[in-house]
Amino acid sequence: MRSIAIIGTGQGGLQLAFGLLSDGYEVTVYSDRTPEQIAAGRLPSSNGLFGRAVARERALDICFWDGEPPLIEQTDAKLTDPEGHLAVEFTGRFAQYGQSVDQRLKFSTWLEAFAGRGGKIVYGAVDLAGLDEIAAVNDLTIVAAGKGEIAKIFSVDQTRTPYQRPQRSIGMISLINTEHPAPDGVSYNIRPGIGEAFGIPMLTAAGPAVTWVMEALPGGPMDRWSQATTAEEMLELTKRTFADFFPWEMARYTEAHISDPNGWLCGAVPPLVREPIALLPSGRKVVGMADVLVLNDPCCGQGANNASTHAEVMHRLILDRGSQPFDETWMQATFDRFWDQAQHPTKFTNTMLAFNNPGSAPPEHAMELLTTATQVPEVAHRFVNAFNDPSDLENFFYDPELTTRYLAEARARHELRLRGRADLSSVGGKG
Ligand SMILES: Cc1cc2nc3c(=O)[nH]c(=O)nc-3n(C[C@H](O)[C@H](O)[C@H](O)COP(=O)(O)OP(=O)(O)OC[C@H]3O[C@@H](n4cnc5c(N)ncnc54)[C@H](O)[C@@H]3O)c2cc1C
Repeated sequence: MRSIAIIGTGQGGLQLAFGLLSDGYEVTVYSDRTPEQIAAGRLPSSNGLFGRAVARERALDICFWDGEPPLIEQTDAKLTDPEGHLAVEFTGRFAQYGQSVDQRLKFSTWLEAFAGRGGKIVYGAVDLAGLDEIAAVNDLTIVAAGKGEIAKIFSVDQTRTPYQRPQRSIGMISLINTEHPAPDGVSYNIRPGIGEAFGIPMLTAAGPAVTWVMEALPGGPMDRWSQATTAEEMLELTKRTFADFFPWEMARYTEAHISDPNGWLCGAVPPLVREPIALLPSGRKVVGMADVLVLNDPCCGQGANNASTHAEVMHRLILDRGSQPFDETWMQATFDRFWDQAQHPTKFTNTMLAFNNPGSAPPEHAMELLTTATQVPEVAHRFVNAFNDPSDLENFFYDPELTTRYLAEARARHELRLRGRADLSSVGGKG
């Protein structure tokens, strides 16, 4: 059976490893940390996975917490005016529920399950020399090391990388408040000129929590995350951030505590797209996947969903390849197939960043869509479900003409529904 090596045991690498293992491949994964080290490490992500990604895990029998609360069943979106007054507020329901499981709990559990199913794990960070040795003895070597240093062996594709530096300064914290259990959906806040803050209900080792990702415009009033050096300081900064910029979120968290001393993180993500193939000193080639190749700012919660998509694409194309070599043409084709899908979350994320970047604002048609979502539930649901499948945005969000046409149709359907209800109640009244 063909041997596949995967460097990095996060969302993309492990999901792919489970899939290939179940199809009889000899899979070795390389992890820079043991399950114990991952479980005890820093919170890496809010990890909101939407319905399609959850379904992929279910199909591989690795959705170990399926259906356990808190689930992601809706998104409550709020947009303020420049002074911070709520200007737009709507709630959209997801057609399929999503879920966030703390990646520390999830990946440490997955690693143990992978070993239990017969997968081979090698612990220790892989460097360039090690990568060459691994590539020499495997039919295919995949680098799924996320934001790890080794990703830099893949060169940046400037044609697909619109920003040259991180667009947000990010603070993240996982909050537990037993008096106010985690809600069944995402709270998504946009504050023009300040940044975004979203709370994702997350299952942690300490129980249900809400993980807040607070994305500040660099150098702006909310860019305060470098002040946090301890969990206590981060908790205080977070509460102050709610009070200063998102006061409607305060009440739920006045008594909240941090999930664990490592349940927070501050930093920044440089959005970029890389070339899919790296040439090693020996002349051998390796292929990258997920964050290694398409790294987006987390403002739309797309990275882990994207990693899940890439794992599915790679799994399918490895199976289709049969016994033919995994050569450069095949490697490029895997990326092209992935990019067919990954371009959509990338465009969505970069568009939402641009909406709130200095000197720019949401275009009129996008504002009209968000405002209409406050009155027409169908529009709210469709926009919210685009977090699960951002390709749908091409049909109604980016192009002013398509938006106008869609909104006219959606309003007409809404009117009809209202009229139908009014007719029914008048019939009911006569009866
Ligand atoms: C603040 C924040 C919030 C986020 N929230 C969301 C969200 O809500 N929804 C969402 O979809 N995405 C979110 N993301 C993004 C998401 O977490 C990532 O996109 C996703 O985990 C990427 O998966 P991956 O497999 O590429 O890499 P990862 O999951 O990062 O896994 C890579 C693994 O490789 C290991 N590694 C690195 N170098 C080496 C090496 N040399 N040798 C061996 N192992 C190595 C790492 O330790 C890590 O375990 C968020 C990101 C951030 C920063």
